[in-house]
Amino acid sequence: MFKKILIANRGEIALRIIRACRELGIPTVAIYSEADRESLHVRFANEDVCIGPPPPSKSYLDPKRIIAAAEVTGADAIHPGYGFLAENADFAEICAECGLTFIGPSADLIRKMGDKSLARNIMRDAGVPVIPGSDGPVSDPVEAVKIAGQIGFPVIVKAAGGGGGRGMRICREPAELERLMSSAQAEAQAAFGNPIVYLEKYLEGPRHVEIQILGDHAGNLVHLGERDCSVQRRHQKLIEESPSPGINDELRQKMGEMAIKGCQSVGYASAGTIEFLLDKTGNFYFMEMNTRIQVEHPVTEEQTDRDLVKRQILIAAGEPLDFTQSDVTFSGHTIEVRINAENPDHGFRPCPGQIQTFHVPGGHGVRVDTHAYAKYVIPPYYDSLLAKLIVHAKNRDEALIRMLRALDEFIIEGVDTTIPFFRRVMQAPEFRSGQFDTTFVDRLLGTPSESPTTESAPATQDADATASGTAI
Ligand code: ADP
Repeated sequence: MFKKILIANRGEIALRIIRACRELGIPTVAIYSEADRESLHVRFANEDVCIGPPPPSKSYLDPKRIIAAAEVTGADAIHPGYGFLAENADFAEICAECGLTFIGPSADLIRKMGDKSLARNIMRDAGVPVIPGSDGPVSDPVEAVKIAGQIGFPVIVKAAGGGGGRGMRICREPAELERLMSSAQAEAQAAFGNPIVYLEKYLEGPRHVEIQILGDHAGNLVHLGERDCSVQRRHQKLIEESPSPGINDELRQKMGEMAIKGCQSVGYASAGTIEFLLDKTGNFYFMEMNTRIQVEHPVTEEQTDRDLVKRQILIAAGEPLDFTQSDVTFSGHTIEVRINAENPDHGFRPCPGQIQTFHVPGGHGVRVDTHAYAKYVIPPYYDSLLAKLIVHAKNRDEALIRMLRALDEFIIEGVDTTIPFFRRVMQAPEFRSGQFDTTFVDRLLGTPSESPTTESAPATQDADATASGTAI
């Protein structure tokens, strides 16, 4: 087992990892930027190292500083959390070269799955259904129009290195494709340093349903059911729940089997997520794989009563899974909302600053994962995720009631938050009915569903994404 784990992240996920380490009896090292000196993850870790100034490029995204902190403190493993360097294959390689265990899959796997276009081909070859699209990257607009014609409009231009809903453009007309391709390429270059794009058929009003996977180094793989993440704004998740109101046991089993098949084909070992889009006729298609712990992992933890972060650490330490697929059971219903420091009445504009009052809800079936507290100052440099509120109940109706009750109890003063928005969602007939899809939030907010030829505005927040420390 590891002697000491350095957590290469901040915010709620750093605290979440510290909790798992404590229960495993493993000492922890927190790293922090000068903007995070007062953060709870610094207070709760056994040791802490300031690694630089606030900009992520000079702190949480700088492998040299992180490796130096690990060497100085004698850590033998690094947990990357989500966002920042969690899906950076070069970083995983550097860790290995320095004799540190990267808590995640191999660099080779991160690289393969991090290229969304390549990942599609790998899954297709493994027999997993993928969304119809280009065989690989597309750079020539004439070629793109030809491929789009074969797939059938509308199509979506997507960044191969994308994340957090960025670098995507929906295109309904051949005449628009060239312009939308170049704007997707420019956004992808700016956000990920990689302008490569590919094409997919744009599915109208799908559900986003993802399967949680755990695989060990002995080749055992299990799935832990699904999370429905269809409540999104600008392709970023806002609410996640399980079970998905859109699938039945038969479909769950099929999706689980396909996810395992895909992971088997690449010898996946760690916690991971296979994201699918589910169309209105019950067909599902691989969209991408995330090779890290996700923001919404607590939903699965509550449904299965299993600690995913502990398990991820045990796998990285070489421990085989001590359960099989038939041991995985699900109970009740879980809903998670991502409470962001943003103003929903002003286009979800980020709202950093000092929290005055911070009262967290409690009681039966309520879990709050947060790094915030009264008087905490939210720095402007990172994502705006403030807390995850997770409720678990016997069934969906009771979970909805519990979520509303918990939202009412959650008092945050001093900064704007998305709590009022979630109250509205919980009472919206479309959400309550369970018959919603990825276009629901646009309808609720009365924002025109992303106009096909209009470019989406840049995402303000993306907790699981690549560079900002935020994620989807
Ligand atoms: P990212 O890696 O940036 O999060 P994803 O590929 O996971 O991007 O897609 C994010 C969201 O964008 C999906 O959950 C879905 O709402 C939408 N989306 C992506 N691809 C398609 C598609 N082919 N058709 C319809 N919607 C899509």
